[in-house]
Amino acid sequence: MIKFDQVSKTYPGGQLALSKVSFHIEPGEMAFLTGHSGAGKSTLLKLISIMERPSVGKVLINGHDLNQIKRRQIAFIRRDIGMIFQSPHLLDSKTVFDNVALPLIIEGYTRKETSKRVAAALEMVGLRDKARSLPMMLSGGEAQRVGIARAVVNKPPLLLADEPTGNLDPKLSMEIIRLFEDFNQAGVSVFVATHDLGLIARMKYRTLTLRNGQMITDGLNDAAGEGW
Ligand code: ADP
Ligand code: ADP
Repeated sequence: MIKFDQVSKTYPGGQLALSKVSFHIEPGEMAFLTGHSGAGKSTLLKLISIMERPSVGKVLINGHDLNQIKRRQIAFIRRDIGMIFQSPHLLDSKTVFDNVALPLIIEGYTRKETSKRVAAALEMVGLRDKARSLPMMLSGGEAQRVGIARAVVNKPPLLLADEPTGNLDPKLSMEIIRLFEDFNQAGVSVFVATHDLGLIARMKYRTLTLRNGQMITDGLNDAAGEGW
């Protein structure tokens, strides 16, 4: 699903963000990515979503070598990735339903198919009764769940989340992780970047740890307590 082979990333200003990073995430896996602020987590996720390109090394997504793909193939590969951020960036003037429908409208789904899929996505995140609400009427946890519904509405095989619980308290954070587990149990690969070690400690998942751009641990989360 995701394969990094000796990947390094240096930004144009000369900042080295990742150094010789190698790992492999299998289809259907759920894993966490951690490390202090500036360790390279966002950069690593941006290489997967093709928002940045590696300086050296190889990134493969679903068998596609990202060094080989043409510009016009980028949208096609991104369609297989549901992205979740710290803040869901909902459109304030649109209802919950319309926000979640957006990726389907862009892809030209019929109205009937769109309605069906949006209803199913809202059902999964427990917000079916909020379909007609505007974002300003939602709590922080609800808004984040709308962002998740939008990320999964076209049924991507991979979910990528960058600090998805950064604005939420521990209880709501746990609810978001439980949702990811539901998707994972339905066969979706899930990769979550977070610096919330408390959250990871309550889980028994593979955890990859970055420090200054280097992958320093990769294993079950018992290593997470050792600090960075
Ligand atoms: P994290 O997500 O773990 O906080 P980042 O991937 O955002 O880490 O950052 C890794 C390093 O790369 C940091 O030193 C950061 O300042 C730098 N960096 C990130 N994005 C850019 C950019 N667009 N241009 C230059 N340097 C960047
Ligand atoms: P987040 O909290 O989501 O990691 P940040 O506030 O760290 O976001 O970064 C916001 C944006 O600025 C990101 O797109 C990141 O790539 C970029 N960025 C981070 N560090 C630098 C830097 N040193 N120079 C330029 N851009 C940066």
